Amino acid sequence: MASPSRTVLHSDLNHFYAAVECMRNPALRAHPVAVCGRQEDRHGIVLAKNCAAKACGVRTGETVWQAKTKCPGLIITDAHFSEYTKYSRLVQEIYADYSDLIEPFGIDECWIDVTASSRLGNGEQLAHEIRRRVKRELGLTVSVGVSFNKVFAKLGSDMRKPDAVTVIAREQFREKVWPLAVEELLGVGPATAKTLHRYGVRTIGDLAQCPTSLLQYKFGVGGLRLWEYANGEDDTPVVPQCSAPPIKSVGNGVTFNADLTSSEEVWPMLLMLADEVARRLRAAQKKAYGIALSVRTGDLRDRSWQTVLEQPTQHAADLAGGAFSLFCQHYTWSQPVRAMTVRAIHLDDEQAAEQLSLFCDAGKRERDASVDATLDNIRRRFGRRAITHAATLHLPKLPSIAEETELLLPNGLQTMRGLCR
Ligand SMILES: [Mg+2]
Repeated sequence: MASPSRTVLHSDLNHFYAAVECMRNPALRAHPVAVCGRQEDRHGIVLAKNCAAKACGVRTGETVWQAKTKCPGLIITDAHFSEYTKYSRLVQEIYADYSDLIEPFGIDECWIDVTASSRLGNGEQLAHEIRRRVKRELGLTVSVGVSFNKVFAKLGSDMRKPDAVTVIAREQFREKVWPLAVEELLGVGPATAKTLHRYGVRTIGDLAQCPTSLLQYKFGVGGLRLWEYANGEDDTPVVPQCSAPPIKSVGNGVTFNADLTSSEEVWPMLLMLADEVARRLRAAQKKAYGIALSVRTGDLRDRSWQTVLEQPTQHAADLAGGAFSLFCQHYTWSQPVRAMTVRAIHLDDEQAAEQLSLFCDAGKRERDASVDATLDNIRRRFGRRAITHAATLHLPKLPSIAEETELLLPNGLQTMRGLCR
């Protein structure tokens, strides 16, 4: 049960990438702007847009060409990820004046537990102070949700934007939250929403009043958790990054500059993605017993598959091989490939005992491990890009920007999207 006295803020930077670009070049401010992977290429993908572009119907994930068709005056800018990381850090420094309990959620969102900061003001006052300071000191705007748990704080930050504060107090959460569409709730993705709709669950209130037996039957433990969220019973703590719980899976994904149209193009991309996953598995001293692959198609649909590996591994080629066989087994090429994520799942400590298969080549495994150790060493000393697989040397469809990486922690809430490179 949630502590009755908790005060949690969720602060979300509005149109973050586009806002930073407009600050770098104020002449952009008056125009619709989209930040894209690679602007000289008409197949570049929209990564972010400002309000004016949004008003024209420009969507994240579509091609520059599609966006320009909707909005002929659209100004396209390159992405500058090191700037976004810098501002993300500066904003967090402001949050740190109000609490030590700050949990980032992606590059532009954070939960801040201000329960212990009541001498500085109540939740709503602190939210406004943060909102004003971010605007004055950094020239960016945030929308802040204030509530008694993380899920409603996040919901609040979505309810009014930009540059706004929304309070969802315990006494009035039913009036404020229950009429909202169920997909607004954290944890209700498109697939879950679709199933819920089939059972007539359209609002968060419908979900709150849905029999738990049905939710458990359809979604397992996750269904019960959603029911608790809808009823204001989320008691997950705000966990600062440094004391985050052990990782449950390691994923790495990328949206391509141009859609992939053949399996020959898919393989080196998988190898590149798996390489980073493997590096991070080794850094975390984990091995994976399974692999999951997600593919976003050219028409923006997501597919995913997973499989158990014959032997646990922390070696890139094994992970890429598993992902590629999933791909070949399941992908029909009715659409080109827009984006892919490779995720190592079913993790265990690398020291944990394992049963070696009769057909496993122990000598090869040892050689792989020693090559990996050498790779890691070179990269530690000379940087991530110092050495790479020959197959991934020339990939014109790979964006020259940061990959999206993600650590999925045991609590479904704590998916952190960060940037590497
Ligand atoms: Mg945002």
